[in-house]
Amino acid sequence: MFIFDAHLDLSMNAMDWNRDLTWSIEEIRKSELGLTDKPGRGNNTVSLEAMRKGNIGLCMATQIARYVHKDNTLPGWKSSHQAWAHTQGQLAWYKSMEEAGEMVQITNKTQLDAHLALWKTDKEKKPIGYLLSLEGADSIVDISYLQKAYDSGLRAIGPAHYGPGTYAHGTNSIGGIGAKGRELLKEIERLGIILDVTHLCDLSFWETMVNYDGPLWASHNNCRALVNHHRQFTDEQLKEIIDRKGVIGVVLDAWMMSPTWERGVSTPQSANVSLQQIIDNIDHICQLAGNANHVGIGSDLDGGFGTEQGPADVDTIADLQKITRLLEYRGYTQPDIENIMNGNFINFLKRNLK
Ligand SMILES: [Zn+2]
Repeated sequence: MFIFDAHLDLSMNAMDWNRDLTWSIEEIRKSELGLTDKPGRGNNTVSLEAMRKGNIGLCMATQIARYVHKDNTLPGWKSSHQAWAHTQGQLAWYKSMEEAGEMVQITNKTQLDAHLALWKTDKEKKPIGYLLSLEGADSIVDISYLQKAYDSGLRAIGPAHYGPGTYAHGTNSIGGIGAKGRELLKEIERLGIILDVTHLCDLSFWETMVNYDGPLWASHNNCRALVNHHRQFTDEQLKEIIDRKGVIGVVLDAWMMSPTWERGVSTPQSANVSLQQIIDNIDHICQLAGNANHVGIGSDLDGGFGTEQGPADVDTIADLQKITRLLEYRGYTQPDIENIMNGNFINFLKRNLK
């Protein structure tokens, strides 16, 4: 079955982790033997080849660069200009993947339809389609930069990531969106960019709901009812997204799947983390919605972790295909499974892309 992944950090892996994603998973793992500079070295699960193997032909692919103020201890760039430049390097990598025939950027409905049609053919080595998304808006130096980003293909944006940001407060911080956040939301609405509410802290989330009327989704978010941490959304927040015709992508990071996960201590085996918890999250959202039209997959499988912090039954991203079978066992119909694996996000794009 064709799969849409609503959240991958492909260029971060290429540019910050020095991974050549045209290699096989095994080749990348071998090249990282003995490296200790980052957690999860040698445990990678994502490459363009593995995506093709898993029929994951379309994704939201991020640019990501944090800007931190002088008094903030989070890792990040010292100025928004540096953060912007970093995202432009990441964009250059996507562009060179396009030139190599490995990827293709989608910015409008015509390109989307053409790409989906191409993936129905048996052409060999099909390019992975991607829509550009910005995770955390700190690299938007001032509001005029959002137009520049849109012109380079940006179609989704999350105002915050971790910590306090320029435009909103993200995970592990508490605060509102302020005047700059409201200005950003207005410009997102004017340009018709999709707002990604993932990572917004509760206060910023609800302030955003008051100040924004455009299309929104949560690209990679699980349910707080299942794992009680503020990174997950409450039922009330999930319902708000559903009411606004949004889609929630469930995420395969182990700590967001298991209430007992201890970072750096637990293993997928010891904590019994498997795709079953992903089905639980999908099912929870479907029960809230009363249908299967508001949930999809936002795997985040290359978001700074690998097999050491993912479901035990996922070795590579191609294993996302296992979700279809598990949904079947849980009683989901084929049309519902199709919607969850690709249709809900793709229909959202069809409604909202120009
Ligand atoms: Zn994230």
